[in-house]
Parts: sequence; structure tokens; C-alpha cells
Amino acid sequence: LRVLGIETSCDDTSAAIVTSDRQILSEVIRGQQEMHEPMGGIVPTLASKGHSRNLPGVISETLELAGLTLQDLDAIAVTRGPGLPPCLPVGLNAGKVLAAVAKKPLIGVHHMEAHALTARLTTKNKLNRPEPAFPFMTLLISGGHTLLLTANDIGDYDQLGSTLDNAVGEAIDKTARLLQLDWLKGRRGGPGAALEKAALTGDPERFMSRLPKPMLERNTSVIAFSFSGLKSAVARLVETEKLIDLNNPQDVSDVAAAFQLTCIQHIEQKIKLALNQEVVKNKKPLTALVVSGGVASNTLFRTRLETLAGSYNLPLICPPPQLCTDNGVMIAWAGIERLQAGLVDDYTITTLPKWPLESLKFRE
Ligand code: ATP
Ligand code: FE
Repeated sequence: LRVLGIETSCDDTSAAIVTSDRQILSEVIRGQQEMHEPMGGIVPTLASKGHSRNLPGVISETLELAGLTLQDLDAIAVTRGPGLPPCLPVGLNAGKVLAAVAKKPLIGVHHMEAHALTARLTTKNKLNRPEPAFPFMTLLISGGHTLLLTANDIGDYDQLGSTLDNAVGEAIDKTARLLQLDWLKGRRGGPGAALEKAALTGDPERFMSRLPKPMLERNTSVIAFSFSGLKSAVARLVETEKLIDLNNPQDVSDVAAAFQLTCIQHIEQKIKLALNQEVVKNKKPLTALVVSGGVASNTLFRTRLETLAGSYNLPLICPPPQLCTDNGVMIAWAGIERLQAGLVDDYTITTLPKWPLESLKFRE
């Protein structure tokens, strides 16, 4: 099977063609970071215009790169939600028209299901079978989400916990901006990658005791995340207490390192709670801990989570960084998984900007 995936939920316009034997035939991504950065964040209406401008070219280029026409495809998969309300229809409408004109099945994809299933495309194994097998635990850490869930099957997810305030990527981005890290220059990964780079040469111990440990005083046994207090604490260090000189690279690195370490320690504590609970509850044993979303490209997070997973005898699986941020490949792959499970949609489906992952269970 060959499926075209289209993604326009946020600020990246992307399309890709992926096969059921796990080959990526082509992929094109157009980002808009340069357009949004002067505004201090993504402006949805501008992002939507960017998609309108870029998507036609992105799709035709994707087909050309793969050397295929619409007729060679077995389905069109497109992100239906969750995402920015003015952006989602650009992709969905394009996908619908292509599917209807070419008389191909249409698959409306849940963006977070796609992030969760990416590992089953990219995990290397001898039989070239989708792996990890269900059930596995997934941590999705991105600009818009911090979600811990158990993937029981395609379309069957139990949400174990999410963030009470900021997503971890959002807190990272705001902190990177506060520290005035320079992250443009055309690299992917954005502010988070710049923060990681700054933290590499930092000593976390210097500011560690000045940062609050999220949800450790109360709520120790609740599976939920909170990052806004931590983000504000860094802002206080910089803006009110003036303990950090932003012109001193060592100061910046030290606080970046402390912030990053506190984030991952908080995440680790909650995953441990969840693993303890799931190992007892699940009839079928978990096969892996999967970590995806843009923040999963962080090397410190990966190494520490690998150790954590290892202590539960689980492999840690992280898709390659370029497939952890938003991309059309994961949408195409989720489309393949759903198509193989017999889950296709009507040409009349609409976007779902807010779409709880758990509601997929009750859809069909
Ligand atoms: P969502 O997928 O929830 O809608 P999104 O599209 O913003 O949100 P992604 O593209 O998956 O999310 O990830 C972007 C986030 O990942 C940003 O917050 C970015 O700073 C962060 N990020 C990227 N690379 C790194 C890194 N090396 N370390 C930490 N964070 C990173
Ligand atoms: Fe995403």
C-alpha cells in the first residue's frame, strides 16, 4: 500500500508518501518559523495563509519526488485535528478533494495518534514488521502537548496523564526566548534545540536549588504534569532577582541546564508512577516505552528515559528527531495503520481542532 499523508495542524506544511512495508518514498516540509518569530509565537491566521500558499506546491513536489501520480496511491491521509482552527481546513480540504477526484479512500488522522504510531514505522527489526507491538506506553512531549498514555491498539488509547498548564515544549520555548537564545538560522528543533545546546556547557547544580520541583510537595501521587511554575521561576531569576546576566554565556548555560534537568526529573517521576500502575493493571505486559514529539529529540531526555525504561526491563524507543517534530510521514503512516485496520472516513468529515485521543475508541 502507498499512502499520501498531509499535515497542516500547526505551522509546518508537510506531505509525504509512505508504503505499508515501511518505506518513505518522499517527504516535503515547508516551515514558517521565520514568519512567526518576530511575533513571539505562532499567529494562527498567518499560519493558515502560509499553508494555503505552500500546500499545493508541497503536495505536487511530494508526488514528483516519489515518481508517482494520484492514481498510484491507495489512500489519502490528512490531519483532522487537534490543531489550530484556521490551519486544519487547508490540509483537510485539499485531502478531501484529492481523494474524491482520484476516487481513493480518505483517512482523517488524529495528529497525536500519528505521533504515537511513528515508532512503529521507524523501529528497525528483522521481519520488517511494525514494532513495538501493542500495548506500549507513550510519552508525547511537544510544543502543544505533554501526554502520557497507553497505546492498546490502533485507535485505542488510555490517557494516563497530561499537563495541568503549559506543555513542556511551550515552557522550554518560553524559557529559551527569555534567555534570548539565538535559534533561527534555518535549523529545525527551534528554541528547544538552542536551549539544549546552551545547557550542554552548563552546570545544573548552580541554580538547581532555586527552581521549584513541580508537583513534589503536594500531588506526589497524581499522574499529571506542570511546567508553568518552573518557567516563572526562571523568569524571576532573570527579571526580578537579576541573578543571571544574559550577556554572560556561562550564566545562561547554567540556568538552562538547571531548567532542563528539573523538567526531565519531573517527567521521570510521573512516568515511574504510571509504569508502576500499568504494570500491575495491564493484562498484557507493556512491550516498550516510546517517547515522541519534538522535545523527544533532546539527548539528555533520551538518555535518562532510556535508563528509566531499562529499570523496568523495557526498551526505550524514540523515532529519529526529524520524525519527532511535525511531519507528513507520520500522517501517512497512521493512515496506513488505520487503512489496514479498515478505518476509513467519509469525504464529508470536518476538522476537529480539539479532539480527545480517547474518543477515537468510540468513533467507529
Ligand atoms: P503539537 O505537536 O503538540 O501540536 P508542536 O507541533 O509545536 O506541537 P513539535 O513540532 O512536535 O510540536 O515539537 C516542537 C517542540 O519541540 C518545540 O517546543 C521545540 O522547542 C521542542 N524541541 C525541539 N528540539 C528540542 C530539543 N533538542 N530539546 C528540547 N526541546 C526541543
Ligand atoms: Fe505535533
